[in-house]
Amino acid sequence: MLVADRLITGDGKTVIEQGAVVLRGKRILAAGRAEELRRLFPEEEIRLPGCTLMPGMIDMHTHIGYYYGEKNAERLAEDRMLRAYFIGKRMEDTLKAGVTTIRDMSSADGIGTVLKEAAAAGYLRAPRIVTSLRGLCITGGHGCSMTGAVEEVDGAEAVRRAVRRNIRDGADCIKLLDSEAYRGEEFNQEELDAAVAEAHRFGRKVAAHAGYGPSMEMCIQAGCDSIEHGTHLRVEQAERMRDNGQTWVPTIYVFHYAYELVKNNLADGDLSSNGAYLKDTVETYRDMFKKLYDTGVLVATGTDTDACSHPQASPVARECDLMVQYGISPMEAIACATGNGAKALGLSDSLGLIREGCLADLLAVRGNPGENIRALEDVQAVWQEGICVYESESAHLCK
Ligand SMILES: [Zn+2]
Repeated sequence: MLVADRLITGDGKTVIEQGAVVLRGKRILAAGRAEELRRLFPEEEIRLPGCTLMPGMIDMHTHIGYYYGEKNAERLAEDRMLRAYFIGKRMEDTLKAGVTTIRDMSSADGIGTVLKEAAAAGYLRAPRIVTSLRGLCITGGHGCSMTGAVEEVDGAEAVRRAVRRNIRDGADCIKLLDSEAYRGEEFNQEELDAAVAEAHRFGRKVAAHAGYGPSMEMCIQAGCDSIEHGTHLRVEQAERMRDNGQTWVPTIYVFHYAYELVKNNLADGDLSSNGAYLKDTVETYRDMFKKLYDTGVLVATGTDTDACSHPQASPVARECDLMVQYGISPMEAIACATGNGAKALGLSDSLGLIREGCLADLLAVRGNPGENIRALEDVQAVWQEGICVYESESAHLCK
């Protein structure tokens, strides 16, 4: 039994003071007030004084093994072994940040499925991975330079084949890349419709990179399950997404991070030329986030920082911090990073909540993130399916 100052269950509102979670195997057997659970389950306790226990976080937008902006990118490009070590380290760091599930929104070498196999065999520790394998774009479209990670396809029939190929190779979901910065739509409606219909026929969800103009509109129309970035999403579109059950994964922090690089003259050529767009996007998120959130559209956190070689893996805590700065409560931001992500993945029966029967993916942070969201950065311990996979040096919890 884990006992903490409080539990935050991940539903956006429930806090249980002096709470406890009873673990059985991979799952949560019971959760509630410690004094009641002690009577029902007289068993050994791991105490977490000064800590809050919450569900492990979910990063809905990562790119496993994107190394394109790393200092030693050339070596990483030519040496698969070196790349594997790089990726292993990123996975370990992701867990240490309290992120127990990631959705991989395109990566090279089929690494998503390889990593799942390696983690299952016990070769390394990795978060639970929901992978799209290769992303799909039109010839010359956004992402086409990501060799091996993004495939160029044109025409509805070719799109269907590419979706099937990805599913054959182990994709859990499908990623479409459609529109870059202010550039308009890329896939035509027939292609988008074909991708969604084919993916849904095989029970896979579709995530669409879209941010601007008709592109977002067409992706919403096609029934894509999530809009990634949605940098210039309008209120009326968010309302329709809410009604359709579509999710918005805004990725606010990565744009701030990229813009800071540009402002400080630390960005590479690609990013530097995008300065005006980055500034506009940062300001649009700032002005619109709360209005869009208030429509009731399901919002889930995604980082996308692998695309900019951010020094820290999966900074979901930073994304939550910005959401709070832009007007939602810390409890709501925590739900975006836990329960909402699970809902968007269609896994809310087993993930993202502290609730009887859910998988015991848990996170202990020092302090109370329900009041001060920055506490999410002070990770003390992480459990994955009931096993402690990380403990900070000061924690001494679970040996
Ligand atoms: Zn991305």
